[in-house]
Amino acid sequence: MASYRRPRIELGSKGPNKLSKSELRYDNQTVVVTGAGGGLGKAYALFFASRGANVVVNDVGRSFQDEKGGDKAADIVVGEIKAIGGKAVANYDSVENGEKIIETAIANFGRIDVLLNNAGILRDISFKNMKDQDWDSVINVHLRGSYKCARAAWPHFKKQKYGRIINTTSAAGLFGSFGQCNYSAAKLALVGFTQTIAKEGVKYNILCNAIGPVAASRMTETVWPPEMLANISPDWVVPLVAVLVHSSNSETGSIFEVGGGHMAKLRWERAKGLILKPDDTYTPGAILQQWSKISDFSEPEHPNGIADMMEKLKEAMALDSNDT
Ligand code: NAD
Repeated sequence: MASYRRPRIELGSKGPNKLSKSELRYDNQTVVVTGAGGGLGKAYALFFASRGANVVVNDVGRSFQDEKGGDKAADIVVGEIKAIGGKAVANYDSVENGEKIIETAIANFGRIDVLLNNAGILRDISFKNMKDQDWDSVINVHLRGSYKCARAAWPHFKKQKYGRIINTTSAAGLFGSFGQCNYSAAKLALVGFTQTIAKEGVKYNILCNAIGPVAASRMTETVWPPEMLANISPDWVVPLVAVLVHSSNSETGSIFEVGGGHMAKLRWERAKGLILKPDDTYTPGAILQQWSKISDFSEPEHPNGIADMMEKLKEAMALDSNDT
């Protein structure tokens, strides 16, 4: 593993945080981090514990390719947290049994405030060679696992009128990626999941956002060169997540890419578009004649809900009724 260029803020065990007085804290809160035996999850776990939270360190203890050797990963992270005076407990259930992970939080700390859906695996293979098992295992860990954990946390969040969820998407999901159709499908599905539960949760002060991280980890160490890995420590993803799950945050239903010090919000963009009267002039040829309007982004709109699409339908219907 490459040695990382560390962020300016001190995370974890190296003495008092230089910015701790002005920085956000999570005292008396419980943070559940799935897949926290290494990579991004471990960075989150160490950070939130260092900022006063009780942490459930969940991990099945395998590498992303099912290799053995990470059996005690969650215990090791818990040990590191305890060594700095933090509070944490290990959990080895799969995220597909999310209720057991949330039960661990309630049994040990009496509450859950923050859920970081982070666990993940890869089963990269070209579409033509993909087997059902490659598809199912990736969908089950990323999508079903995030659903199961959030579903189990939801009643607690609703009762206490407080909850914060981060789902982990990916550039592979947002843009597609060769050899990763299972992973891409799961990761973009998590965007839809995020945006819907954000809409449902807002009245209970349950906020949910998605991040598409870039970080050096077991998942990426064979993909990127060492000089790149050295500049994308998982620690560089943590501060944005810390902001999004803090009680002071009001952002919800949003997607962010984050890594190596870069962070930016992403959104849908709609082209100017074309409205044709639905009569017998509405033909494929009529569409082709005005194709450039369909993809003309010179006057973009940024739809944020189904209502924004209904506006377009109303415009189309008005065109129809004006002529009758
Ligand atoms: P990682 O392999 O270091 O961490 C993933 C962890 O999830 C592992 O420790 C693994 O044991 C655990 N895990 C796997 N299946 C599990 C299950 N069923 N239940 C509980 N834990 C399970 O990789 P990472 O890069 O830290 O990935 C973290 C998340 O970020 C993943 O969701 C990944 O898809 C996403 N992501 C990472 C990058 C990146 O650049 N590292 C890019 C985009 C998305």
